Amino acid sequence: MSKGTKVPGYMQGKGSRNPRGIIGDREIRYKCSLQNTILDVLRGRPGWQEVPGQQSTGQQQANTGKSGSGSTTQGTTSGYKGSVRNPQGPGTQSAVPTRLQGFQSIPPITRNSDGDWDFYWCDREWLAQNYDTMFLYEHQKILHFRNHYELTRKNLMVKNLKRLKKQTERELGKAEGQSFEFFPTTYELPSEYHIFVEEFKKNPGIIWIMKPAARAQGRGIFLFRRLKDITDWKKGEYQPLSDPNREVPETYVVQRYIENPYLIGGRKFDVRVYVLVVSYNPLKVWLYRSGFARFSNTRFSLDSIEDTYVHLTNVAIQKNAPDYDPDKGCKWSTQQLRKYLSAKHGVEAVKKAFKGIDNIIIKSLQSVQKIIINDKHCFEMYGYDVLFDSDLKPWLIEINASPSLTASGKEDYDLKFGLLNDLLNVLDLENRLTGKEKRVGGWDLLWEDGPILADDGNMECAPNGTTASIPNSFLGCHNERKRQLRELYTAAQSIKKS
Ligand code: ADP
Repeated sequence: MSKGTKVPGYMQGKGSRNPRGIIGDREIRYKCSLQNTILDVLRGRPGWQEVPGQQSTGQQQANTGKSGSGSTTQGTTSGYKGSVRNPQGPGTQSAVPTRLQGFQSIPPITRNSDGDWDFYWCDREWLAQNYDTMFLYEHQKILHFRNHYELTRKNLMVKNLKRLKKQTERELGKAEGQSFEFFPTTYELPSEYHIFVEEFKKNPGIIWIMKPAARAQGRGIFLFRRLKDITDWKKGEYQPLSDPNREVPETYVVQRYIENPYLIGGRKFDVRVYVLVVSYNPLKVWLYRSGFARFSNTRFSLDSIEDTYVHLTNVAIQKNAPDYDPDKGCKWSTQQLRKYLSAKHGVEAVKKAFKGIDNIIIKSLQSVQKIIINDKHCFEMYGYDVLFDSDLKPWLIEINASPSLTASGKEDYDLKFGLLNDLLNVLDLENRLTGKEKRVGGWDLLWEDGPILADDGNMECAPNGTTASIPNSFLGCHNERKRQLRELYTAAQSIKKS
């Protein structure tokens, strides 16, 4: 196949597409707005070809810190040196038809219209500016749903959760409504200031946390005990003066501070959980096994509520702590965390705690299911932030639509590389799967219009002797993804042949 060769059906009207929108016998063309691990993954994927064009260095890069060189030549862009190119595992490589493998050396096509890409890892700003006027061909996949902010802006997330909680209580009773008690009491300011003041007076002495609704990385956050501590905010002092598009006054949420976080080594942490939504209607959700816990650098204490190094676990905050050690970092893998908690509290207690995370994921997604503009071309990879309290109860802190993909070290790079590679394996633009898989690499299918139960062969992390069906949820369990992919592709090939 020569440069720019089309296969039959490519770039034609909707009617000529096959039912799954599969690309067929040619290279897969991608665009990518970011210059971090995702670009490494895309460049290292056999049979995938970069579409040249403007590389956005939009807000996500600013959010995620480091960026690459800006070059479009092959190489590691994550900023992490010493990484292994294309470590997606032999199963992934060998399953790619040989005819596609030579495409790496073909010069990229020069056209750059919307129909010229199959896959676009775009930033949120690009989507917001272009989605409404864009025609998407059957075969195209793009990151983000149009109104993802319904879940990822702190105020809207809580508004949607409160609404579904109320509706559940009305229709199914108060007891059912209790399954929503995973987000701390929250009000939007300034609109709910008066309701907040009433609540504040009912609970004297407790600590509240103020967070700008639309900012990230711990920016603009502060804790307070006295109403007069938010006087400055009321005067508008906390508005970002450099931002010409700022809301006036900037919307904040005020939230009950979790005063009894679970501590390890005297330090607070939260857990980053990766969730992939490939459809909102029906709701289809995948949960990634690996993730990490982010620890604060300084021992927890309620005496110094103004000390962000104690109370905020964001890496962006912690890396500026005076005694921060970049080699040690402040991270544990979720596997390490699960092991530690299981040794301390037993497998059952940890299973219950992690089941609480599944509940958080599903309820939060259901709370926006009818609001999100569902589009079969769109997918979203969310980064959930969850905090355990001292009773091992998980609390939802926030949901990110652009979780950082910049690696902070080799382990972090490997985690993110595997995560993103497996995301592409789930999306399966290469059409190697049967579509019935419950596990693809490190992703487990958690929900498809209802809960998914695990197969017999997929019972890791289950207590010994369990025979009953368990949910297909394995956060913090073994993630031998390469072996799984090898087996999966071999099995899928033989099913497809027969
Ligand atoms: P951002 O989007 O700026 O990261 P978050 O809502 O994630 O804002 O809060 C930043 C950090 O502050 C969290 O990672 C967590 O450590 C801490 N935090 C936020 N809300 C609470 C809360 N209600 N109780 C305890 N800690 C919290």
